[in-house]
Amino acid sequence: MSILDAQHDLSAFRQAIRDWLAEVVPPDWKARMARASNEEYIAFQRWWMAERSKVGLAIPHWPKEYGGAGLSQRHLIAVADEMARADAPQNRLFTISLIHMPGTLLPHGTEAQKRRYLSGVANGEVWCQGFSEPNSGSDLASLRCRAVRDGDHYVINGQKIWSSNSMYADHCLLLTRTDPNAQKHRGITYFIMDMRSPGVEVRPIRQANGRAEFGELFLTDVRIPAENMIGAENDGWRVAQATLASERGVISFEGGERQRYEIEAFYRNSLKVGAAWLKDAQLHREFVSFLAEMQAARRLLRRVLEESETQGASASVLPSIVKLSSTVLRQRICSFMVRISGMDGQAFALLAEEPFGSPMFDFLSAFSGTIAGGTNEIQRNIVAERGLGMPRV
Ligand SMILES: Cc1cc2nc3c(=O)[nH]c(=O)nc-3n(C[C@H](O)[C@H](O)[C@H](O)COP(=O)(O)OP(=O)(O)OC[C@H]3O[C@@H](n4cnc5c(N)ncnc54)[C@H](O)[C@@H]3O)c2cc1C
Repeated sequence: MSILDAQHDLSAFRQAIRDWLAEVVPPDWKARMARASNEEYIAFQRWWMAERSKVGLAIPHWPKEYGGAGLSQRHLIAVADEMARADAPQNRLFTISLIHMPGTLLPHGTEAQKRRYLSGVANGEVWCQGFSEPNSGSDLASLRCRAVRDGDHYVINGQKIWSSNSMYADHCLLLTRTDPNAQKHRGITYFIMDMRSPGVEVRPIRQANGRAEFGELFLTDVRIPAENMIGAENDGWRVAQATLASERGVISFEGGERQRYEIEAFYRNSLKVGAAWLKDAQLHREFVSFLAEMQAARRLLRRVLEESETQGASASVLPSIVKLSSTVLRQRICSFMVRISGMDGQAFALLAEEPFGSPMFDFLSAFSGTIAGGTNEIQRNIVAERGLGMPRV
């Protein structure tokens, strides 16, 4: 029986995923990836996507008519939980392809766009998101990348930044300005851009943790066919809300579960080997309070997922509260891990050729969560203004 055949019985479905993961996930994948170059890491991500495709777990959340399995939220939580429990690889390369692109095209794309692009993901097509610009991040609606109509095309000129995995992408979700004289939210148009179009230049950006996961896009006279517009001209801001809303969901649930399993395993191992830090009562108390806070964060996240299936969820401030609390908690835990790992934990990051997976690497990486998808300051503004009714400043 295949995994999807077992979907009518949730525990059999979970067991089928567990059996498949035990068979397919290489036990040494983390150690191998710790030494891997960017290219090897990307090849590994593509391989993992192909394996998921074979058993119908690449795009299980999409409607059946577009190649998905139409699975419910409960099933998706089960998939995420089993992936986390098995410490299976994550599909970071495909985040935009799996979450943001369908979150945008399903409600706003034309039938032709859905047929063309949704099916491509299971075959390994990579998407990136071209929203942020050097002076338009939190204030995204002030973006300036220009699109000018020329017959049945639009000509694009401008710059984008922080575009995750754009070096490997086939397509880009692109926000442009079509009417510079309209109010800033009104003159924006949303396109699908072929990343191999003449005039697209991608320059990787190296991060504090040593990886280069972002690219800067320089767009010079790039021609995009008008049929690649998502929604209507100058209505891109409304479409972009669907992209941004799609970020909330099972993806953050899986991240939270992974961290819980890791931390619990770390604690069990510390007990087993009688780690020195356990003898410090203050450190021990601090650690146990992290475990309690993680449980609270998990419950909140489940509430967000339940809310996302009900009407009016988009008005809720709960996703902002979850993002704030979980990203700050992650930073605090990573900082704690660096502290208790002593000189070894810190020196490893400085001396190793590839520090991936070390406490210092995780600590440096933890900052990105408080910036990506709307900074924590912006989340606080949302909670204050929409949740508590405080005046806008
Ligand atoms: C891991 C990661 C992945 C990303 N991936 C992508 C991607 O694929 N595509 C893409 O387009 N972008 C991506 N981004 C960019 C991200 O969306 C922006 O970094 C984010 O929106 C913040 O914009 P900014 O960097 O321009 O900072 P700014 O907006 O310039 O903010 C600078 C500082 O000022 C604060 N600030 C700004 N406005 C206010 C305000 N009104 N009130 C209080 N404080 C304020 C901010 O909180 C921040 O501390 C990614 C970022 C990260 C970290």
